Amino acid sequence: MAPQSTPRGLMPALALLLSLALAGCATAPAPVPAAAPGSAPALEAPDDNLNAVLWVQRSQEYQATLASLYRGAIAQLDAALADPQWDALVPSERDNPAAWHGLPPAVILDIDETVLDNSIYQARLVRDGLEYDDGTWADWVAERKATAVPGFAEFARAASERGVTLYYVTNREQRLKDDTLANLRALGLPVAHDGVFLGNGTQVDGCEQPGSSSGKLCRRQLVGRSHRVLMQFGDQLGDFAHLPANRAGERDAVLREHGGWFGQRWWMLPNPTYGGWEPALFDNDWSLPRAGRRAAKRRALVVGD
Ligand SMILES: [Mg+2]
Repeated sequence: MAPQSTPRGLMPALALLLSLALAGCATAPAPVPAAAPGSAPALEAPDDNLNAVLWVQRSQEYQATLASLYRGAIAQLDAALADPQWDALVPSERDNPAAWHGLPPAVILDIDETVLDNSIYQARLVRDGLEYDDGTWADWVAERKATAVPGFAEFARAASERGVTLYYVTNREQRLKDDTLANLRALGLPVAHDGVFLGNGTQVDGCEQPGSSSGKLCRRQLVGRSHRVLMQFGDQLGDFAHLPANRAGERDAVLREHGGWFGQRWWMLPNPTYGGWEPALFDNDWSLPRAGRRAAKRRALVVGD
């Protein structure tokens, strides 16, 4: 997750970690209390995330968008299975470039805001005037109350019926594995075995993760060693391909080189509440106070003159 808009996207604690690493920062932003002890909660204090969280939680448009997306993926599954050349890993991320065509099929999914909806956690931050924090995030994960995002259960069922293994490549830390798998299982979502959880900190023999440990390249490569990857799902660009840096140029390059895969091999979930897109607007400088980050974001507005 991310501070108010970081982490989970890039992944929970990792979004933040990734952003910080990319920015060269040494410390995470501290939570910002809404009000002094004993005073009335600053319920009227503006929060940049209010509309975004409400859109996810309360809009029919969000539900329809996700249902459309996962329905579209279901419609592509049979074609993906039937085509032995179909692979959703960037070729450079495969260390078995000539030996994957006959491997059993898998799908790689991010978890937060791709499979599980953590908007309750985000809503609490808005309510309390706080920002993302590793401790409160871990507490939320331990509650095991995240729900499945709209449409995912149907996709998971369709994939499982076709013998496709679901791998969860998430930036939830390894120490959150048990709570996460329990949450998924309680929702009736497929967990083929504990090894399908590949969290932040997973060591992959023979692969050195470039950049931040929250990068997913080696974990994608690990899945690719034993499977043909039919599809990838995420809410961040880094869920699909390696980002050398969280800057506009590198982010644009992913779309330029692989944008044609979206809607076929790659499926991007909308996440307006946090993610790498936001810190990219203020040079990943989480040391800036909220007002400084807001000022940078206002400067990023495209106003046509
Ligand atoms: Mg995510």
